[in-house]
Amino acid sequence: MGEKKLVNPFQVKGNWYKANLHTHTTNSDGDSTVAERVKQYREKGYSVLAITDHEKTNDVSGLSSEKFLVLSGMETHPICPNDKNAYHLVCLNVPFGLDFPKDADANTRVKIVRQAGGEIIFAHPYWCGLTINEITAVKGYIAMEVYNAVCTRIGKGFSSVHWDDLLASNKIIPAVASDDTHSGREIFMGWTMIKAEQLDACSIMEALRTGSFYASCGPTIKDCRIEKNELVLQCSAVKEVHFICRWASGLSFYADNNDDIIEARCPINDALKYVRVELVDRQGNRAWSNPFIL
Ligand SMILES: [Zn+2]
Ligand SMILES: [Zn+2]
Repeated sequence: MGEKKLVNPFQVKGNWYKANLHTHTTNSDGDSTVAERVKQYREKGYSVLAITDHEKTNDVSGLSSEKFLVLSGMETHPICPNDKNAYHLVCLNVPFGLDFPKDADANTRVKIVRQAGGEIIFAHPYWCGLTINEITAVKGYIAMEVYNAVCTRIGKGFSSVHWDDLLASNKIIPAVASDDTHSGREIFMGWTMIKAEQLDACSIMEALRTGSFYASCGPTIKDCRIEKNELVLQCSAVKEVHFICRWASGLSFYADNNDDIIEARCPINDALKYVRVELVDRQGNRAWSNPFIL
């Protein structure tokens, strides 16, 4: 299936780093300066913050420390070929001053970013109103946003069906959760837990390229791995566990009123094509593992 192999973050060496990979500042339509954003996320216990203003980079030199990494980024909006819509592409690890030719299409922008040492995350496809054909017309991005906090304001924060559509189209793609921070209303709502060797741009980008992460709005995934013919999960206390696969034959567990779920198992076989785990805690917050391709 597909072109790319994902690693299992629970089976690689490294440390976990909490990240918000989509952030706006007063340099575009956010309500805080870059320095204020860094302070907000650092004090909340995050380790990684990508500053991604609309069509603008920021000079983030000197903002990183041993315990906090600031990635230089941008959100760019190439036009979508099939209507008057635009793609929203989050560029990570791009040089300060990066600029695109005005009429550069999405795939050209992906190439420019990658040539500059960066990578692209496909932002909030549901909010954009994109069809699967419009999404698959873009190549070369490393992840998509399954959750975007600011998009929940118009009821379109969750792009999990778009994700399954891509996976069903044999596109092996992992997913992140992001605040897309503009103001205090959506800050600290969705994050990405990255397993990387160390806290520097090189290691974090490598972890992002290989799928060494999971997305969350609350629950913690403690372990998730294939053992013989089962996918075995350990997690923080949740009320629902869903093993979601290519077909209708997934498996779900629901806690009764007293007992939370902290582990679950799902029999797997190649015919399922892929399995991913989606958790829901008692507050209704979700977490998403990356897909296990079978
Ligand atoms: Zn956007
Ligand atoms: Zn944004």
